[in-house]
Amino acid sequence: MALMSGKEYEESLKKIKMKIYLFGEEIHTPVGHPILQPSVNSVKATYDLALMPEYEDLMTATSNLTGEKINRFTHIHQSAEDLVKKVKMQRLLGQKTAACFQRCVGMDAFNAVYSTTYEVDQKYGTRYHENFKKFAAYVQENDLTVDGAMTDTKGDRSLAPSKQADPDLFLHVVERRPDGIVVRGAKAHQTGIVNSHEVLVMPTIAMGPDDKDYAVSFAVPLDSEGLMMVVGRQSCDTRKTEGCELDLGNTVYGGMEALTVFDNVFVPNDRIFLNGETEFAGVLVERFAGYHRQSYGGCKVGVGDVLIGASALAAEYNGAEKASHIKDKLIEMTHLNETLYCCGIACSSEGTETASGNYLIDLMLANVCKQNVTRFPYEIARLAQDIAGGLMVTLPSEKDINHPVTGPIVRKYFAGREGVDVMDRFKIMRLIENLTMGTAAVGYLTESLHGAGSPQAQRVMISRQSNMEGKKELAKAIVHIED
Ligand code: SF4
Ligand code: FE
Repeated sequence: MALMSGKEYEESLKKIKMKIYLFGEEIHTPVGHPILQPSVNSVKATYDLALMPEYEDLMTATSNLTGEKINRFTHIHQSAEDLVKKVKMQRLLGQKTAACFQRCVGMDAFNAVYSTTYEVDQKYGTRYHENFKKFAAYVQENDLTVDGAMTDTKGDRSLAPSKQADPDLFLHVVERRPDGIVVRGAKAHQTGIVNSHEVLVMPTIAMGPDDKDYAVSFAVPLDSEGLMMVVGRQSCDTRKTEGCELDLGNTVYGGMEALTVFDNVFVPNDRIFLNGETEFAGVLVERFAGYHRQSYGGCKVGVGDVLIGASALAAEYNGAEKASHIKDKLIEMTHLNETLYCCGIACSSEGTETASGNYLIDLMLANVCKQNVTRFPYEIARLAQDIAGGLMVTLPSEKDINHPVTGPIVRKYFAGREGVDVMDRFKIMRLIENLTMGTAAVGYLTESLHGAGSPQAQRVMISRQSNMEGKKELAKAIVHIED
């Protein structure tokens, strides 16, 4: 089964007995749960779009491992063109879901682990790359969703992993056996983890020789013994349990994050991709972060397209669309959004081949991309709220809008331009609320700030990649300074 449908994906998820905690209850599948189903729906879109002829070129690729047609979310990039198509696919999905569709983290982890394991094997004669290729082919053949797990909880930020008061604050190996390893620790903020079949774990920072037990990468299925998820709250999340539609803003799609705990989880030898080669921890982090910083030049742009469209409709629905300041705000939002896209495309088309044969984005440009993503969606959201006006946060509830006494009053007094259905005006208000301060704001804003590394992480990389000495030489040459 090279390509699953969304329905098949959902059915396959149901077969995995997960240990999920949410609002003080233990549940075993996200499917059908009102808080988690929108998140499942977003990932379903990555399956359904791949089966539509008009999106085939963006959504599918030919595997270098099996030669088969596969979903691009499981692809090992074979060219700079593949990297560009990845960003275009993410913009498309952002447009279709107006949410985080989650499957990119695994794709980015795939490509980082693929090239890094090759280089570890070259140096140490290990078998990590063969292990990973076998795992990747299994994922491609079964069209699985993989969660890429990097962020440890990190405890005291001034201390190395092995120096923490509690050794579990970074995930680490606690036992080495002939048939594999046992790991303990936790990964925070895991996007889409409960909607995934497998989790692919990577170290979170560059490490020194003392951190051998922490330099570990592996993959295990979501029903592994000892694996547990505690789902994080999102602003306005309980609206999903109220049986309402309008108040959700986005009735179908959403995202989720969870603290993922590995309590003595066993990893068999053929699922280990790094085990103690500390100098490669930093390489893996840098590459994964680079790919995911590229990703934001696609997904956030797609969601931005929806938000800009909603803002334009909000203005039209109350008759303000001809005002010059509204037009200018929409231009500014578009300019900011397309600037992010320029960065996503640029770091992709400047991508180069790694020793393993897959393609890596230009790291400088990917970091510039993400640095802009830490700012521009916030400005786009501010302008959307400016155009939407106060009604976005003072609109009465759906129940009041449908109530026999208050409903007609609310609809009468919040009518906009004649001929516009006032309910359409309300829907757009709720969508802007959802994207800029509701459940989707986690994906559109906080993710933009902290996902794939907080702003300072990109500034460190920009500094490292800046070739300042080379720039100084350029200046010296112009004015004939000789050392
Ligand atoms: Fe994909 Fe964007 Fe969500 Fe990351 S934040 S998983 S890149 S949609
Ligand atoms: Fe992310």
